Amino acid sequence: MTSKTTVKTLLILGASGDLTGRLLLPGLAGLLATGRVPGLRLVGAGSDPWTPEQWQERVNGAFAAASKAADASGRKALAASAESTEYHQVDVTADGPLADLLARLEGPIAIYFALPPHVSQKACEVLRREQLPPGTRLVLEKPFGSGAESARELNETLATLVPEDHIHRVDHFLGKATVLNILGLRFANRFLEPVWNREHVEKVEIVFDEDLALEGRARYYDGAGALRDMIQSHLLHIMAFIAIDAPATIEERDLRDAVATVLRASSVKAPYKDSTRRARYTAGSLGDRKVPDYTEEEGVDPSRNTETLAEVRVNIDNWRWKGVPFILRSGKAMGQRRKEAVITFRPVPQLPVGFTGVDSPNQLRIGFGPDTLELHVDVNGPGNIFALDRATLLAELNEPGMLPYGEVLEGVLTGDPLLSVRGDTAEDCWRIIEPVLRAWGQDSVPLDEYDAGSAGPADWHTAVVN
Ligand code: NDP
Repeated sequence: MTSKTTVKTLLILGASGDLTGRLLLPGLAGLLATGRVPGLRLVGAGSDPWTPEQWQERVNGAFAAASKAADASGRKALAASAESTEYHQVDVTADGPLADLLARLEGPIAIYFALPPHVSQKACEVLRREQLPPGTRLVLEKPFGSGAESARELNETLATLVPEDHIHRVDHFLGKATVLNILGLRFANRFLEPVWNREHVEKVEIVFDEDLALEGRARYYDGAGALRDMIQSHLLHIMAFIAIDAPATIEERDLRDAVATVLRASSVKAPYKDSTRRARYTAGSLGDRKVPDYTEEEGVDPSRNTETLAEVRVNIDNWRWKGVPFILRSGKAMGQRRKEAVITFRPVPQLPVGFTGVDSPNQLRIGFGPDTLELHVDVNGPGNIFALDRATLLAELNEPGMLPYGEVLEGVLTGDPLLSVRGDTAEDCWRIIEPVLRAWGQDSVPLDEYDAGSAGPADWHTAVVN
């Protein structure tokens, strides 16, 4: 059973970094403004010799938008948090300074490792269990390790420090509202469950296409690529929520067990030239903006052959899904922003003779951010009643009401790891994609090209379904 203790101090390591400024602090501001984490003390730490004023300025800047949108009590909570925040210069990789800082802070503490992954790992290695105040929560960012083995090693290190349910491996795509929207749709509607299986579903596509290019992120992205960046954790998790069996409760144990069970049954099958594709963008335009060839972007090493578009066909080998392709795709610099899961049903066994027009398969499209639901059905057309036509039923789903990092932090600060990636699952996600990474590293799959702003390589218009 998870112990839900409310955290008193949020310690952000990497206070001067991009994640902290752009995502964490604005997310925290939205959460503080709701009044759901009263009395939380915010502490920043970094290797820079910042003055308290510098840090306070950063916090105030990041809180500004939430403060403007908040009511009077929300504004008060934000002002109180910004006034009481403190900054400490600490080299977290050295043995001692971080432990000394922890000893001075009020517990329970959530330590947010907003650091480069190797620095987070080193920081965890120099910590010891007895240096952590009771109830400490450790929050780790992606990428979690660089492969199954390093993820396992990191898990072993973390296990020496705190229990598993006090470790939050963040995957900010698992926004609570989105996940609950998928689960609500699937498990609160009787008509879906009987057809949610291999008998009736032909394929499932999960697509995250961005209409943004590299945007100056070469330092991180060129070493990662679309497969590691998007598919390795984000899309595999969305796939799992679409594929799980109904959990008895929406408690972390039941839900995370169900996700782990699906991922354990999942793999990408060889030969990888049939089950995967990769490509890299060349010069083009996104709207009225010219985009250079990826290899010309500042900081890119062309010899790395980093893909900016990746597609894999995952098989889930269990009774429900055996033989149904789950196609996971993500690309940068695409002409159209597209973030959705598309469930395509099998055709009807026999269309009564006499109907004309195209009998298209039913499709359920679950859109992410904004969360929407579209059901595409065949109906009798206007005019000729025998001619089939297409109709779309559209619903807009619940808005999260908070930024994704606000939802992540709420889980951390209230002691609920429901949406955190569990240790075994983090390793399993690497196990699923590692053979693909190896095959791509050996050039067993060609690196195709597409113009920035296009729909992908010209010959990719059919999915990788056999
Ligand atoms: P940055 O490089 O922008 O920031 C890293 C931070 O770590 C800096 O504040 C840096 O301080 C600090 N730091 C480095 N070494 C030490 C040290 N020895 N002791 C104390 N502080 C140190 O990285 P990001 O913010 O972009 O990323 C942080 C993590 O979040 C990474 O794991 C990344 O993969 C993940 N992430 C980032 C996202 C993003 O959009 N930025 C999105 C999702 C995940 P200083 O500059 O003073 O050295």
